[in-house]
Amino acid sequence: MKEIILIKNGEIALKGLNRSTFEDAMIKNIRRRMAHLGKIEARKAQSTVTIAPQDEFFDMDAASDIVSKVFGVSAFCRACEIEKDMSVICKTAAEYLKNELEGAKTFKVIAKRSDKKFPLTSPEICREVGGYLLSKFHNLKVDVIDPEVTVVIEIRDKNAYIHSAQTDGAGGIPTGTGGRAMLLISGGIDSPVAGYMMAKRGLEITAIHFASPPYTSERALEKVKDLLRQMAQYCGRIKLYTVSFTEVQEQIRDRVREEYSTLVMRRFMMRIANKIAEKDGSLALITGESLGQVASQTLPAICCTDAVSQMPVFRPLIGMDKEEIVAISRKIDTFDISVQPFEDCCTVFTPKHPKTKPNLSDFEKVESVMDIDALVNKAAEETRYEYITAV
Ligand code: ATP
Ligand code: MG
Repeated sequence: MKEIILIKNGEIALKGLNRSTFEDAMIKNIRRRMAHLGKIEARKAQSTVTIAPQDEFFDMDAASDIVSKVFGVSAFCRACEIEKDMSVICKTAAEYLKNELEGAKTFKVIAKRSDKKFPLTSPEICREVGGYLLSKFHNLKVDVIDPEVTVVIEIRDKNAYIHSAQTDGAGGIPTGTGGRAMLLISGGIDSPVAGYMMAKRGLEITAIHFASPPYTSERALEKVKDLLRQMAQYCGRIKLYTVSFTEVQEQIRDRVREEYSTLVMRRFMMRIANKIAEKDGSLALITGESLGQVASQTLPAICCTDAVSQMPVFRPLIGMDKEEIVAISRKIDTFDISVQPFEDCCTVFTPKHPKTKPNLSDFEKVESVMDIDALVNKAAEETRYEYITAV
């Protein structure tokens, strides 16, 4: 029996002439992420993509798990590919779905016939397959309203396909088709969710992390990499830039009034990220900020950080509650990593009374005690990168 994965494209199908480009990008992402499982053949036809393993010991469970995390896939299922012959279809349906049918009391058959030359109509296919299954499984009754098992027979150009219920895919647009943006990633709950959300809208994600050794530990940086490994299951391989932020933070601590220090620090992050993003070919920055969540995320505070960015700053979580963000982080399995207790460069130097209503005009004076360009250039020059791949 030849088992394949049948993929239904969601929003991709709406993209008119670009559709083929989007489908190709989705297939490329699938191929890359399945490379370690063995050879596959990918075919496109009628808003569906089929992934057929070419190796005998191909792990279909692992492959399904990978497909469930690829953006652009609206729904998918494992299916059996067979010749378009009614007696083969009936026999294979009974065999392929044996376990599900044995364990159920009710079922129905749905037929989808995109090959209009097939001699039987859809209702005729349903009747014939349904009758055959009833004769083989005496535990079963037909229930067309709310069946426990739905047997789907698809008659397409070259082959017939048999499957049961399909699973929802990750949705969205294939990662990489929308250009590249740089995610400011901390070790917290929010930024990984923000990166996931923008990758879902088709962006390729590169990441930048600000570390302040020895105030922040090697383990804190490892935590960020663990988060990226997890995110890479959805976003694909992620390039991570690690900025040594210690000198900037020490100068802020020594020279800037405490109530301004958080925002001055955030403005430095923006400046350095802009510089590195430009070199990297990223066209926007992404942060995990949510309006009003902390002092540095009030509207006046965000205006002060935005003012030093030349590129657009995407904040997909801006209107979300913490519980909504946590729900997504649990779904993408970053939550348990995020809550591990390792210090972040922000927390190490947190002031007791940060300004919640800062004035943009204050910063010129507050920051005049520092050589901004020199600090930014030095931090950017010393920045290193590496690639993080999925777990
Ligand atoms: P998170 O849960 O993502 O840490 P947060 O609610 O703790 O967010 P802040 O610590 O104020 O909020 O950070 C706001 C945003 O700034 C983060 O979502 C992230 O995008 C960015 N950021 C904070 N710290 C760092 C860091 N050390 N390196 C890179 N980006 C950071
Ligand atoms: Mg944080």
